[in-house]
Amino acid sequence: MSVPLKLTLFGANGRMGKELRALIEEDRRFAYACGIDRQEIIEQGMSPRQERALSLSKGILEPTDVVIDFSQPSAFMELLGALRSRPLPLVSGTTGLLEGHRQELLELSKSVPVIWASNFSKLGNLMVSLAGEIARIADTEDLEILEAHHKRKKDAPSGTALSLFDALKQENQSLRPVFSRHGDGMKRAEGDVAILAIRGGDVVGDHTLFCLGEGERLELTHRAQSRSAFAKGALLAARWIHGKPPGIYTMADVLGIRA
Ligand code: NAD
Repeated sequence: MSVPLKLTLFGANGRMGKELRALIEEDRRFAYACGIDRQEIIEQGMSPRQERALSLSKGILEPTDVVIDFSQPSAFMELLGALRSRPLPLVSGTTGLLEGHRQELLELSKSVPVIWASNFSKLGNLMVSLAGEIARIADTEDLEILEAHHKRKKDAPSGTALSLFDALKQENQSLRPVFSRHGDGMKRAEGDVAILAIRGGDVVGDHTLFCLGEGERLELTHRAQSRSAFAKGALLAARWIHGKPPGIYTMADVLGIRA
């Protein structure tokens, strides 16, 4: 039996953090090094060593092979600062990042291996790759994206919806995102791609890419039924990235999806 991969979770108290913790604890290939969250206290009964490691102001102190981050954009610079002081491979799924965050991530990837993905689920990534193929073939059809998430989600549209648009745009540079339609003069212009978000209930994450033609249409839908689909993908990414040279990698690399 090989040595378990030691994982530190950033955003450990959140919905994804808890899902990951549960999966780590039932899988002998992984060990929970520590959890870091804004509230600092993850749960009762932690060892003194784990408690010391909770505050990022002291840096990541626990022996760790890979850091997994599902937090929020406002925490991102703090995390990158800690990783600059202690270089460790990073798997991040935090969405709503700004251009400045991305530049810093790129900078960090010169010294450590990094995977950032808007969607860690296997089938979600397959959908993004199929979106590129659809855009390549759909020369006369109209493309539109609709996503649905639970009502506590802070950013909109979702990172996956934006990744779907990026995949379309890679095949057809003339496409333009349209984030809302309201009022007069909203007739669809050639090359427009609406990226629309609905929010409510406990929807984990649904995405549909519409390819609308004359006399027919294709609707490609992915529905995440539980967060475990994302958490399992993040753990797969953590195993894959461990030992890799510095650089930015994608879930397509992890899953062997051809570009
Ligand atoms: P959540 O709000 O339940 O959890 C976020 C956690 O981060 C909270 O516990 C919060 O206290 C913590 N946090 C905030 N600021 C912090 C700081 N400065 N230091 C340490 N911890 C801090 O959210 P969630 O549903 O778990 O999602 C987290 C992120 O992951 C969101 O951006 C979400 O969109 C994204 N997400 C990505 C995927 C994917 O596959 N890439 C899947 C699900 C969610």
